[in-house]
Amino acid sequence: MSQTTQKVAIVTGAARGIGGATALRLAQDGYAVAALDLREASCVDTVATITEVGGRALAVGADVSDAEQVQTAVERVATELGAPSVLVNNAGITRDNLLFKMSEQDWDAVMGVHLRGAFLMSKACQSHMTAAGWGRIVNLSSTAALGNRGQVNYSAAKAGLQGFTKTLAIELGKFGVTANAIAPGFIATEMTAKTAERLGMSFDDFKASAAAKIPVARVGAPDDIANAVSFFASEAAGFVSGQVLYVAGGPRT
Ligand code: NAD
Repeated sequence: MSQTTQKVAIVTGAARGIGGATALRLAQDGYAVAALDLREASCVDTVATITEVGGRALAVGADVSDAEQVQTAVERVATELGAPSVLVNNAGITRDNLLFKMSEQDWDAVMGVHLRGAFLMSKACQSHMTAAGWGRIVNLSSTAALGNRGQVNYSAAKAGLQGFTKTLAIELGKFGVTANAIAPGFIATEMTAKTAERLGMSFDDFKASAAAKIPVARVGAPDDIANAVSFFASEAAGFVSGQVLYVAGGPRT
């Protein structure tokens, strides 16, 4: 596809996990992909994988909670790859603790990456999307939005992202831009591996105990989420907006 007609997607938190799989999937769908993460160097593997399958990709370093870095990163993507028309707000962190032990820093850090990050990235990208009259924003929520012990900060941020998504859908719809959220259940990534570590369990035991409670009897893989992103980003999903899709191996609503 020629550089001028190829659509451009930005995936945040694309160095690994769900973001890495999503970046590759969107490249396979025909997008030029900006793989954005805290450090540019950490996106080298994602970019190499995309290039190996014949795709076009750019590694971008930025902290999504920093307005200046976000602005610079989005401008760089627009210059080097083209105006972004798909944004996947995937970057995320956990800072788990029970409410009575949770520090203000852990509350603010989680709000900063998930909510402030999605806000800043969406604000920086929307001008490109509305100018083109076409855009797709996909936000990563979580089943934790429904409540999860030890995650008062994370569940509040993930529930907040659902309201954010619905409002984006209402405001941007007339410009050809849709916004949807995906709420994954248990996905095997470094994030869940770290949770196992914090709980003093092996990752295999943690996955097995999670799978025992999941109707499809397995934990999720990053590709399970990348597939859902691929649908929301597609032309075919143009009449789907403001929705939250639980991708959790069973109903979680
Ligand atoms: P992960 O920890 O494997 O990857 C997250 C990536 O985000 C990392 O590469 C990290 O460097 C990056 N990141 C963190 N803070 C950043 C910042 N300020 N700026 C830019 N990049 C930053 O996590 P994952 O499991 O792949 O999760 C991806 C998303 O899916 C997150 O939003 C997470 O909350 C959500 N999610 C994950 C699960 C799960 O079970 N793994 C379930 C529900 C939702």
